[in-house]
Amino acid sequence: MTEGNFVDYVKIHVSSGKGGKGSTHFHREKYITKGGPDGGDGGRGGHVILRGDKNLWTLVSFKFKRHFKAEHGLHGSKSRSTGADGQDAIIPVPLGTVVIDTQTGERIAEITTEEDVIVAPGGMGGRGNWHFKTSTNQAPRYAQPGIDGIERDITLELKVLADVGLVGFPNAGKSTLLAALTSAKPKIADYPFTTLKPNLGIVQNRDFTSFVMADIPGIIEGAAEGKGLGHYFLRHIERNSVLLYVIPADADDISEQFTILNKELTRYNPELLDKNFIIGISKVDLLDEELYTAIESECKGAFKDIPVVLFSSVSQQGLTQLKDRLWELLNA
Ligand code: GDP
Ligand code: MG
Repeated sequence: MTEGNFVDYVKIHVSSGKGGKGSTHFHREKYITKGGPDGGDGGRGGHVILRGDKNLWTLVSFKFKRHFKAEHGLHGSKSRSTGADGQDAIIPVPLGTVVIDTQTGERIAEITTEEDVIVAPGGMGGRGNWHFKTSTNQAPRYAQPGIDGIERDITLELKVLADVGLVGFPNAGKSTLLAALTSAKPKIADYPFTTLKPNLGIVQNRDFTSFVMADIPGIIEGAAEGKGLGHYFLRHIERNSVLLYVIPADADDISEQFTILNKELTRYNPELLDKNFIIGISKVDLLDEELYTAIESECKGAFKDIPVVLFSSVSQQGLTQLKDRLWELLNA
């Protein structure tokens, strides 16, 4: 059973490196009395960079490290030698990370591919004194200092959750399904800044394929008006994402439950209705053969073109078919 809490929101502090000083230096050689200025430039300070990494799924690594500091550029030196640039601080983040300036609330970026985003540029290195030689000043005793790096508070929010989102009323069997399908537990943990705690698991499919399934509490249960829920969308990168409506076989009226779920979902986030979806009728182990057939044909009549899979997390019946249908839709 995947019990971990999903980390979706974190505040970090970053500081880029200061640029190295330009050098004030004069060329000296034996027998040459008046060498010219030859002080080199300072190196650039290191950037702080967020790097999209498709192998990451959570922001949990930030539980232990929240301050990131790039190195300063080195000073310039004689013979017009430029100081080395400071080393960048590179911070891997999952795809779907929204980057916000904590102070202003400005949205800086949304990282959707394996790209680099500089969130704090390193300070420029100062120019060495040889740049400042003029006809009237052949021996400038001046070089530029390096420019300071910047410090910044940044909020990271993971917008992208999962390939398959479970939608259903309490007791529909969502958690049990997640437990039945999830063989690997992603490394997830409690986290103080978590705004929402959906359960999430990786479903191993045939042929070594896998997808992420999340039970998202709060979609239903009056959460449409809820505050601070963040922006929970399903994964929309690389693959399609799919909603799985979970309706228990012993529901009073299956098609009515579906209608109500749809309404709730529209209130919560109308964009979700653009998703592909599939209806899963859970707990079919409770049915005898006759009822099973009756429900099967009821669904065919009620849902027409919508794919329906009857399954039981307890008896495992229909689970392979369910995974196959989900996989088809994810890759449609
Ligand atoms: P959730 O609220 O949608 O997450 O539902 P749960 O997974 O917590 O399940 C609610 C109840 O239904 C629990 O008592 C489960 O044991 C039961 N349940 C879930 N799946 C099945 C199933 O496939 N067959 C049967 N007979 N009971 C189930
Ligand atoms: Mg549950």
